Amino acid sequence: MNDNRPLLEVQNLKKYFKTKRGMLHAVDDVTFTIGKGKTLGVVGESGCGKSTTGRAILRLIEPTGGCVLFDGEDISRLSNAKMRAKRREMQIIFQDPFSSLDPRMSVSQIIEEPMRLHGMYKSSHERETQTLKLMDTVGLARRLYNTYPHELDGGRRQRIGIARALSLNPKFIVCDEPVSALDVSIQAQILNLMKDLQAELGLTYMFITHDLSVVHHFSDDIAVMYLGKLIEKAPAAKLFENPMHPYTKALLSAIPSPNLDKQNERILIKGEITSPINPDAVCRFAKRCPYASDQCRQCEPTLIEKEKDHFISCFLHQDG
Ligand code: SF4
Repeated sequence: MNDNRPLLEVQNLKKYFKTKRGMLHAVDDVTFTIGKGKTLGVVGESGCGKSTTGRAILRLIEPTGGCVLFDGEDISRLSNAKMRAKRREMQIIFQDPFSSLDPRMSVSQIIEEPMRLHGMYKSSHERETQTLKLMDTVGLARRLYNTYPHELDGGRRQRIGIARALSLNPKFIVCDEPVSALDVSIQAQILNLMKDLQAELGLTYMFITHDLSVVHHFSDDIAVMYLGKLIEKAPAAKLFENPMHPYTKALLSAIPSPNLDKQNERILIKGEITSPINPDAVCRFAKRCPYASDQCRQCEPTLIEKEKDHFISCFLHQDG
């Protein structure tokens, strides 16, 4: 086993949906890797395909094409039964902790359920002990064992979601906007908890968000998606220092600076959004890009490694 191998290798992943108007290209030829114990932040506006990418990797929805290697194993073609077993190692935390938790189940039942379904412990006593341990791990007081989600605030509900995701001892977690529904002060608590758990348990995260400022200090690498395409990927510090894609630059300009006297000049994105239904093989940002040339309207740029570990899909950065 090659230990330097990334935990997750996503190659040319595609997810298309049939609609009355044609084929909607929600995820189109997306390629990236995530190293063991690392966090990839995936950002982009609503509808860019970031959540669909996460779900297609876990095969909660079946990809249309491409493949996903998990710890060196191609999981794209595993039978449903084998994939179910594999999902012990690959979990997801959802955005809205309230709607993702069954309101009829108590805190302990929610956390315990995956262990029961996967037959992880022989006795209910063992599961109970493990549930209490998980509650300790995510900072949920044991007195909440028999309470119900509606009795708890958003932060505690998200802690239940995290405990449930951890209950099967996963290696990899897709975190789908896990803090977007929470107040800012609670967001910081949950992000800190997730960071601590990563260090303690060696977890690998794919952290999906529409908010670049959330992933800045949380991610090792950041991938930017636009209309189903991965358009830029780089180590987090590099992306913030030297964004290359015009869309990434606009996203970064929208982050307020803590220094009130030195705010970024906001780059407004104007123009029509290209339809993701049967899109032409051109740059999907061309209708909104101030630098668009004929080449951008006639051909599609490919993702290239412009600098070490800095990938970009834009003709402005492609020689020749
Ligand atoms: Fe703009 Fe052209 Fe680059 Fe697309 S390829 S982002 S249209 S400059």
